[in-house]
Amino acid sequence: MIATTQAATASATLFRKCRQFGAVIDRLERDGSYQRLYRVEVTGGLDHRITVWNPFRRAQQEMICFDSNSYLGLHLHPRVIAAVRAALDRVGYGTPSAQLLCGSNSYLKELEETVSQYHGREDTMVFPSGYAANLGAITALIGAGDLILCDQFSHASIHDAARTRHYEVYPHGDLERLEALLAEAPPRGRLIATDGVFSMNGHVAQLPGLVALARQYGAALLVDEAHATGVLGPQGRGSEDLFGMPGSIDVLVGTFSKAPGTAGGYVTGGRELIRYLRFHANAGMFTAALPAALCAGIAEAFHVMEREPEHRARLWENVRYFAPELRRAGFLTEETPSPIATVFLGSLPLLCGFSRDLYEAGIKCGSVAFPAVARNAAILRLAINARHTREELDQTVETLERLGKRYGILNRSRREILEIGERLGAGGRS
Ligand code: PMP
Repeated sequence: MIATTQAATASATLFRKCRQFGAVIDRLERDGSYQRLYRVEVTGGLDHRITVWNPFRRAQQEMICFDSNSYLGLHLHPRVIAAVRAALDRVGYGTPSAQLLCGSNSYLKELEETVSQYHGREDTMVFPSGYAANLGAITALIGAGDLILCDQFSHASIHDAARTRHYEVYPHGDLERLEALLAEAPPRGRLIATDGVFSMNGHVAQLPGLVALARQYGAALLVDEAHATGVLGPQGRGSEDLFGMPGSIDVLVGTFSKAPGTAGGYVTGGRELIRYLRFHANAGMFTAALPAALCAGIAEAFHVMEREPEHRARLWENVRYFAPELRRAGFLTEETPSPIATVFLGSLPLLCGFSRDLYEAGIKCGSVAFPAVARNAAILRLAINARHTREELDQTVETLERLGKRYGILNRSRREILEIGERLGAGGRS
């Protein structure tokens, strides 16, 4: 009896946080934010336009969408789809076994070669996701006594892996602080880890400075090129291409869930590194291989990225049009050389109110708050892609501008926007 009571108390303690968090979600659900911002039911594909089920109107609703990371629209490219279909017919919809146990199917091997060649590397290991690629690479490389130094806004997968090791965080983009940490660090293995393009604010990491520090302090450099591959640089090959520094990243991590248009991740680099990872990166080793049909499609997507620059040209035409339009309308937005545009909203009440109204007006984009960005630095995140039409971009700016006027946030400073949010939170309409 006593043991049963103790067990009940222990599990109540364990689940208390779930109950507390549930109360937060209940509140968001009551004001409709949860259904509109975080659990939207998308009833078709994810593209520049989407159809969602609007539970408030009890009807399908078509929306302009800025959430797809398929920057080049390759998830719908006929050659990519044909390659997936052909492989599906041959091998079925899955190849469910771990790579080391059952061997690597020829589609996966061909994908490894394609990715290696694309990045000019010796070898590549494919993971089930970009998240797993960072987790696998970092936990395999950072041993006892080694140190990993991460940019504050690096992807969660970098932080989740690094947190299990000896780990320092440097303020976002602050190379002076990074240098100080490197100078203090014990003379053991050191890895600097950063995103190439930061997923939430679209900033681009300063590769030349990072490479210089890595070389000076004998550190290795891991760059997560998730949002850079297929997008940045004259040939779209990512940060190294943008800065004219081919081969300068020691551990290049990528994902297939952005420009390549589907799911999966990889680490590409020198032969020794990849051989080591195949046997030590648990997140890629003790898990099923990426399905062969997806591998076939992804390899084709990489060929398209190399051979059809017109998709990238359209993407950049859209980016160069849209970001200045946001500024012209009077939004507080950052100038970044990436397809991720942001609108500063600051506080949570403003973010929730504005996003709800935007949803009702038929625009779907990311609503991002702490911890994905700094406290009181909430933003709308709009990922522009090659398939957005000029009409859609214009309609989006018009809608944003109308709401911006309603909330009184156009041509305002950061402090003024935060004050508007505070008043909103206190129950007043600005
Ligand atoms: N790194 C970055 C920078 C990302 O933005 C993401 C996904 N948002 C990932 C890694 C994880 O990639 P995946 O979705 O393939 O797990």
